[in-house]
Amino acid sequence: MDYDVIILGGGMVGCATAYELSKYSLNIALIEKDYDVADDVAFINSSIVYDGVECKDDLAAKLENEGNKMMSNICEKFHIPFKKTGSLIIAKTDEEVLEIESMYEKAKKRGINNIELLDKNEIYKVEPNLNIDVKKAIYSKNTASIAPFDLAIAYAEIAFDNGVNFKLEEVVLDIQKLSKGYRVITNKNKFTCNIVLNTTPDGGTNANKDSIDSRKGSNINYFLLEDESMNKCNNIIQKFNYNDAIKRILKVPTVEGNTVLAVDSYKNIGYSDTLKYSSLLFNNIKEVDINTFYNFPYYDDLVVIDDSLIDRGYVNVVINHYGQVSMTPYVSQMICETVVNNINCVLKKNFIDKRREYYKIRELPQDEVKKIIDMDKRYGKIVCMCNKITEGEIVDSIRRPLGARTIEGIKRRTGAAFGRCKGGYCLNKLAYILARETDKLMTDIVKDSKKSNVMPCRIKEFDTM
Ligand SMILES: Cc1cc2nc3c(=O)[nH]c(=O)nc-3n(C[C@H](O)[C@H](O)[C@H](O)COP(=O)(O)OP(=O)(O)OC[C@H]3O[C@@H](n4cnc5c(N)ncnc54)[C@H](O)[C@@H]3O)c2cc1C
Repeated sequence: MDYDVIILGGGMVGCATAYELSKYSLNIALIEKDYDVADDVAFINSSIVYDGVECKDDLAAKLENEGNKMMSNICEKFHIPFKKTGSLIIAKTDEEVLEIESMYEKAKKRGINNIELLDKNEIYKVEPNLNIDVKKAIYSKNTASIAPFDLAIAYAEIAFDNGVNFKLEEVVLDIQKLSKGYRVITNKNKFTCNIVLNTTPDGGTNANKDSIDSRKGSNINYFLLEDESMNKCNNIIQKFNYNDAIKRILKVPTVEGNTVLAVDSYKNIGYSDTLKYSSLLFNNIKEVDINTFYNFPYYDDLVVIDDSLIDRGYVNVVINHYGQVSMTPYVSQMICETVVNNINCVLKKNFIDKRREYYKIRELPQDEVKKIIDMDKRYGKIVCMCNKITEGEIVDSIRRPLGARTIEGIKRRTGAAFGRCKGGYCLNKLAYILARETDKLMTDIVKDSKKSNVMPCRIKEFDTM
């Protein structure tokens, strides 16, 4: 066999499971079709760590709640920004009061702790900046916000350092059952293995096609608001089931210090409707404060963890759920347990449970920054003016284990080009550094996927670009 375990898909769950399995004496490969791991993680690098209160079904609630309990330790270990924010699920009408009362009772029965039902006066004590009229709210002290891409990349980097073989830019085309184990066929190779862990969203070629094809999905519409110019809330504010078209409206204080307003809708609504519905959670939104408007296809809240074929070496995991990040620590441990119970392996003695360190210059005190610049002048050269990211950090993001190979990869690892000018100032500098460090032409540098070249061609024949 080429490998003991092959993980299909380098998304959040694939990377986390690779990390968990890399603790064992196993020969593991992870196959990902994109240039980078976790390429589909939410573009705005801030996610809610839910606690299961809001979930309709019990399985999702359990996965979120267990993941929530593990998240702060993981973030501390991996040095990932984690902000315990707390949350309010609000009711504005009598009908909504009944809905959240029933949600609260259900959450209590599910064994979710640290939650309270607050009346009007108590709500404004918890959240003085809430500038709308509210009757009742479920207050949870469990919820938090984190940077999801950072989490995924940390899992992947440690797995890589502990021997997992990451095969990027390789598309899985087929999975064939052999008399013993499986053959995984990609656009570049054929591999054999004992166990296949399929975390790709279409469930691979063999399993769960019916449940996937029947998904409905929704759209999520985001406003990213600049922090200094608004009444910022300390808690995540959520409101459910506004009307037939609107599933949920959210206001989230992000780990980066901004605020995200989001409208989760069944229909594709545009900027104006997003503005209209956002006003239900936040009065007097000034359009001048809106830094960015994003619109994504969202999820149908599907969770499939199918280990019924584990005796034949196949586990299928499909999570198309808005709380996938929150579930990941628990889900990945569960999958790992299933695998190690079905294959001969032991815990490694030399497992390194540590992420390689790197500098975030803008967060360091001046005297420390000076010492770093004395060692390497590139840490004194600012490339992204908006977010104050230096050339040293960009180079490091490319040279780190599983380093960035695209502009998007640099942005997500460093925060460069995520500022107000959205790369207007630094995009060409990022492309230049990436080309230099990877020994490529600037015209070969892509934004995130094949054919997304940031420069289509040379327009003048200079010696350098
Ligand atoms: C807008 C938005 C907001 C979100 N907010 C939150 C939040 O607040 N809290 C929270 O907990 N979660 C949240 N989520 C959920 C979470 O961020 C995502 O579900 C999760 O990150 C999905 O990303 P993934 O990388 O795990 O993708 P997955 O789809 O799970 O990963 C599968 C991977 O498989 C790869 N792949 C697919 N087919 C093949 C193939 N044939 N061969 C090889 N590789 C293949 C894909 O490229 C992908 O990388 C949000 C999601 C979105 C979109």
